[in-house]
Amino acid sequence: MNKPEPIKTEDQPLGLYAKREPVFNRRIDGKFRRLKWGIMVICLAIYWITPWIRWDRGPYAPDQAVLVDLAHRRFYMFSIEIWPQEFYFVAGLLIMAGIGLFLVTSAVGRAWCGYACPQTVWTDLFQHVDRFFDGDRNARFRLYKAPWGPSKIARRLAKWTVYLLISFATGGAWIFYFADAPTLHQEFWSGTAAPVAYGTVFVLTMTTFVLGGFMREQVCIYMCPWPRIQTAMLDEKSLLVTYKDWRGEPRGSLKKAEKNPGQFGDCIDCNQCVAVCPTGIDIREGPQIGCITCALCIDACDRVMAETGRPRGLIDYATLEDAEQEKAGQPPTRHLKLIWRPRTILYFTVWSGIGLAMLFLLGTRVHTDLTVAKDRNPPYILMSDGSVRNAYTLRLRNMEGRPRQMEIGIKGIPGAVMWSEDMGRDQASRSLTRTVPADETQGVRIYVVAPADSVEPEFTFTLQAEGDARESDEAEVRFDSPEG
Ligand code: SF4
Ligand code: SF4
Repeated sequence: MNKPEPIKTEDQPLGLYAKREPVFNRRIDGKFRRLKWGIMVICLAIYWITPWIRWDRGPYAPDQAVLVDLAHRRFYMFSIEIWPQEFYFVAGLLIMAGIGLFLVTSAVGRAWCGYACPQTVWTDLFQHVDRFFDGDRNARFRLYKAPWGPSKIARRLAKWTVYLLISFATGGAWIFYFADAPTLHQEFWSGTAAPVAYGTVFVLTMTTFVLGGFMREQVCIYMCPWPRIQTAMLDEKSLLVTYKDWRGEPRGSLKKAEKNPGQFGDCIDCNQCVAVCPTGIDIREGPQIGCITCALCIDACDRVMAETGRPRGLIDYATLEDAEQEKAGQPPTRHLKLIWRPRTILYFTVWSGIGLAMLFLLGTRVHTDLTVAKDRNPPYILMSDGSVRNAYTLRLRNMEGRPRQMEIGIKGIPGAVMWSEDMGRDQASRSLTRTVPADETQGVRIYVVAPADSVEPEFTFTLQAEGDARESDEAEVRFDSPEG
């Protein structure tokens, strides 16, 4: 019977892109496989369940725990609400995510790629679907080689239908992050959702179907920039999945090793490490860009070592420095020591510094905001009594989930008074009060008039929300007059 051959580096053409060789990875059990199961379940659960978690923010705000409310330009995450002018929080989160990836890479190598990257998680899921419909490695290979007939067509159709269902659930879940999930769910199935919702689901369903179902490891090898960036970031102290060639070579079957005692290393050339690899590579050829460090080959080899009565760890997490030490017969560095080294401490310090700064800003930010735009044409109006009038548009922002009274005041220009468009000049004063609805911005057009003898080129608008002295804001503005 023909068996699938491992993809060898020297067999691959030197072109920019190699035609995909299908990978028929074998089922394996072990501590890393169980870890991958756990992380996969957690990642998928977070992705699918999060939009359905409710969070009470009172009657004026949505009750979805995590929501990107594009219509009202808000981002909600549990008790945090981000307004568009606070986008620096989102930028901070993205920077933290980037530095977090650097931190993880320098501490534990490509752990992100091997365990938590969406491409890895969905490819893993689809490979389990393959096994469910087509059997394990050899059965899948036989089916792949078999001519097309009713049985093969039926199996393929059934499998691709499940791929499509998973892809649809993936694309479908995404849109629930952008609108109230129960409402959108009802609208989606009754055909009354916005066309963009159907378009988004279609695009994401098809990309999941193609990337997870068919392209798989090609995405990691050819499309994703992260492996290249990581390669540049790895150093001699980075943890990699390593084949200990000094212990395994020269490799030879058990029979050969028994016939020639002492002439062979620990590797019995059983190819189990290759058979379980989800990207189809042979780790014995050294570190490769196709290795996502999922550690399934460690599980496979540890099992072989146990069965043949040899110590585990012929393939193991190790650093290049460890490899040199072990080769020289010295004990490897403890993994904890590798994690706490200057580079990781630097990344961690920067990462946690940004996190603490954001927490501080979140804890001390006020929910009252004032922006002012001055009329430029005309810049001022000279009144019949010699006083000078300027006009402004104020935007009062109430970022709390309840209506609030806010007092607008003038600081500077002695004798200046103001009134709004819906008042008469006879009611002009140094302050006026507005009620701003919950979670809204209210525009107010204000006229400020200053006596001719006390005109100053600048003054300040103040905004004070009732009941909390901390809840205030101010904006310095120009005051134009014939003097300049
Ligand atoms: S599983 Fe271990 S023993 Fe078998 S070929 Fe791979 S490295 Fe050698
Ligand atoms: S070589 Fe090992 S660690 Fe690398 S991708 Fe394959 S199974 Fe995972």
